Amino acid sequence: MTKKVLIVGEVRDGELRNVSLEAIAAGKTVADGGEVVGVLLGENVNPLVNSLLYYGADRVVAVNHADLKSYTTDAYQQALLQVIESENPDGLILGHTALGKDVSPRLAMKLNAGLISDAVAIGKDGEEIVFTRPIYSGKAFEKKKVKEGIVFATIRPNNIPSLEKDETRTGEITYLTVELKDLRTVIKDVVRKATGGVDLSEAKVIVAGGRGVKNKEGFKSLQDLADVLGGAIGASRGACDADYCDYSLQIGQTGKVVTPDLYFAIGISGAIQHLAGMSNSKVIVAINKDPEAPIFEVADYGIVGDLFEVVPILTEELKSA
Ligand code: FAD
Repeated sequence: MTKKVLIVGEVRDGELRNVSLEAIAAGKTVADGGEVVGVLLGENVNPLVNSLLYYGADRVVAVNHADLKSYTTDAYQQALLQVIESENPDGLILGHTALGKDVSPRLAMKLNAGLISDAVAIGKDGEEIVFTRPIYSGKAFEKKKVKEGIVFATIRPNNIPSLEKDETRTGEITYLTVELKDLRTVIKDVVRKATGGVDLSEAKVIVAGGRGVKNKEGFKSLQDLADVLGGAIGASRGACDADYCDYSLQIGQTGKVVTPDLYFAIGISGAIQHLAGMSNSKVIVAINKDPEAPIFEVADYGIVGDLFEVVPILTEELKSA
């Protein structure tokens, strides 16, 4: 049965996040030939509406409001509820990002809907839509269907490929005015730490270091490798606890969950809590001097050796490739 599905386009620093484009592709499967409507919220989202159309949205609802400039739970929840009321969709999809994780359960509760969070694949079983999501820290996958009500889900970045960009695509744009009341939080200013540019959760290549990297200096050689590959730097908790790098880089059960195309685990033992955040990466390369390190059990390629010798050689080889 065809459906109308809303996807929430997430804007960061004036640009759409990749996961929003992936959400359009997810929305196409859920809509099953029906309509995928992109929703954009922000202070001035008008320059971005075409991007959603180019990547497959059939229509866009744009909501411009000064209080939507930065994400706050109150403002986004109120605005999205008004969009949902005006569109009356059968489905709603967001990225499984900080924004999606925060607002989606609140919306689901208000709509009396179920929520499938952190989906990594969406398929069909007859007429029904089936979501696949990791459980037990990525050791198993479960399949879930929505039996009644709105089909409501968040999708993990880097798992559902976006559609090809087609700049000839056009679609209707609706500008919706929303009323935001009694906001309890207002963001006055956002001060970001400099983290090298590539967003960890959406990076296609991650070079992660562990306690084996020994110190802050050691991370510099990992940065060189990441720069050659256009990747982001990540870390184990061991490295963060030892103050070799910032906690914002931590990957794992209590850090970020990532699914890059290529993950380098360098001087990381492969504790279960670390694997919880990266074991679903498409290709894993481990560099460790201990041949018995558990990381080799999940690695596609393993190099047994001293990282201080291996990483510079690898970086030079890749530079000249
Ligand atoms: P280690 O276990 O000390 O491993 C260092 C590795 O480096 C070793 O395998 C060693 O052989 C190798 N090495 C050393 N020198 C070299 C060299 N010169 N060349 C090559 N290899 C070398 N951990 C996380 O990562 N993320 C989490 O989110 C997380 N959450 C946790 C939550 C809880 C509740 C708990 C209890 C723990 C959590 N941990 C987490 C910690 C986790 O259990 C491990 O302690 C941590 O992952 C170990 O980090 P590491 O692999 O860098 O260090």
